[in-house]
Amino acid sequence: MEKANTYDLSVILPVYNESANLYLLYDELIKNLDIVKSIEIIFVNDGSTDESISIIKSLAKKDNRVKYIDLSRNFGQQIALIAGIHKAQGNRIVIMDCDLQDPPSLIPELYKKMDEGYDVVYAKRSKRKGESIFKTLTAKLFYRILSKLTRCKIPVDTGDFRIISRKVADVLIQMKEQQKFFRGQVAWIGLNQTYVEFERNKRQQGKTGYSVKKMWRFAIDGITSFSDFPLKFATYLGFVVSFVAFVLMMWALYQRFIAKEYVQGWTSLILSILFIGGIQLISLGIIGEYISRIGNNVKDRPLYIIKETNIDEEKK
Ligand code: UDP
Ligand code: MG
Repeated sequence: MEKANTYDLSVILPVYNESANLYLLYDELIKNLDIVKSIEIIFVNDGSTDESISIIKSLAKKDNRVKYIDLSRNFGQQIALIAGIHKAQGNRIVIMDCDLQDPPSLIPELYKKMDEGYDVVYAKRSKRKGESIFKTLTAKLFYRILSKLTRCKIPVDTGDFRIISRKVADVLIQMKEQQKFFRGQVAWIGLNQTYVEFERNKRQQGKTGYSVKKMWRFAIDGITSFSDFPLKFATYLGFVVSFVAFVLMMWALYQRFIAKEYVQGWTSLILSILFIGGIQLISLGIIGEYISRIGNNVKDRPLYIIKETNIDEEKK
């Protein structure tokens, strides 16, 4: 394709307040990338509020393989990495975190595995080290629920750390949805996919950029982008509740007119009103979630705004 062949490999790293990790990360990358002839390392600065961007710029100054895309604000890791894919000019693309939880030493293995004829080689976490029980549990639960709800097989216990071919990158660029859920999109594409296992280290320095709020948003985006089960769930629930209500109605009529044993059913009345009210609100909420996604996609805004980049557009 038109952008291919400029480099053998592009490495894309979304960066959000990672100043304490960047030098070490860069050293590790350089150490492990000598198996590949020509590379570019693309840092996508996702609105960091620390020194990250100036560190990246200083790396770029002394090494012209270092590229950066400085986004206008914090757009979230998923959008940051797509911004990187849009600009990448490599035949193959590695996507990884820059807190060294995804070890650069695994890149050669990913790269070689691809030679066996794969379009995607993802890195599967056999162990997660040094993460809170909360994080590990919610992650496990999320992966399991997601794989139950979606039809395309999104691999469990796998983050975004992976290598993809130019072909996959080009399809990703064509996928215009606003709510990005990278690993779901890659699973949806299909082609030849495989994995290698690794032990996920603990974050080198700094703290996670994923607050509980961001994790929640990420989970909802993942589920609603790749499954309409929640939307259908409202309908199933409606049927079940209606059925129960019908049975209760029959019973109430029987009590009133045949058994003639009726009481001032205040409790049951209140309970059923609350019950139905709850169900209705949940269902409305689910519908609202999908409608807001339609709204966002109809607006068709650009996904992100670039403040500054040193990537040479001419070459494309
Ligand atoms: N990140 C980002 N934007 C954000 C949050 C995180 O670009 O809003 C980057 C972050 O710098 C890191 C990667 O995404 O390279 C994964 O984030 P983090 O390590 O905070 O997530 P965790 O490993 O805790 O899930
Ligand atoms: Mg991390």
